[in-house]
Amino acid sequence: MHKRHLHKIIILTAIILITLFGAYNEKINPHFSERIDFTDGLFYSCHLDVGQGDCSVVKLPDNRIIMIDTGLEDTFSKTEIFLKKNGIDKIDYLVASHPHSDHIGSMAKIVKNFEVGEIYMPKATSNTVLYENLLLAIKEKGLKIKTAAAGVSMISENGLTAYFAAPSVIDNDDHNNCSSILLIKYKNTGFLYTGDSEEKEEKTVTADISADVLKVAHHGSRTSNSDKFLDKVNPKYAVISCGADNSYGHPHYEVLKKLKDRNCKIFRTDETGTVIIKSNGEKILE
Ligand SMILES: [Zn+2]
Repeated sequence: MHKRHLHKIIILTAIILITLFGAYNEKINPHFSERIDFTDGLFYSCHLDVGQGDCSVVKLPDNRIIMIDTGLEDTFSKTEIFLKKNGIDKIDYLVASHPHSDHIGSMAKIVKNFEVGEIYMPKATSNTVLYENLLLAIKEKGLKIKTAAAGVSMISENGLTAYFAAPSVIDNDDHNNCSSILLIKYKNTGFLYTGDSEEKEEKTVTADISADVLKVAHHGSRTSNSDKFLDKVNPKYAVISCGADNSYGHPHYEVLKKLKDRNCKIFRTDETGTVIIKSNGEKILE
């Protein structure tokens, strides 16, 4: 074969492969870039790939940042890279869903290394070193913890609200069910963040929690995500944050089936890495 023809074939093959790979990435995760555009005035809900843990970073249309959970202690560098890459040096609202290490593991480091506006935590207490270090970091920073509890409003502005639908009961022997459940509404779109709340806590929620996007509770565990709760939320999109091949078997088959039966589009951090979902206030953008 003529050398020039061979070159053409190689280049053409490369173009086809790059296009196919791009289309594949688009298919598995339409928000593959992991970048926030701070100039487009959109609402972003970013669910970071922190393995078997939870960490959501929300960029509000005016560029303020809400961070709900921070992942495990040893994934701090991943979280830090995401925040720095996106030029985030201040967390305006830092929320701990509950004191377990897969949610607050990196929170002391976040408090130490970033400017923090307000911090919200449920009134649950823990005697783990991680939790005590977090309290110490908060104290050293001169921050005062605000209580995340059912009925507490974090943001109440024209077209933008964030309020806690749970917890209403604190049991320090059952931290999953002390999880803060936070509903953020931007105009006509809603996002619900559930920590590790299980069916027991789901039953206590009386507020309107209907939302377009659900951060699925407890990494997709069957002990959470009851039919009644999912019916109340009625989400169009579900984000599951969990580690690949985790020992808990999360997300559980039953939960995936419930979501699929409800025509819910599912994004998983273990399959696609960080998941980013955007809203212009009227609808969720894909
Ligand atoms: Zn968890």
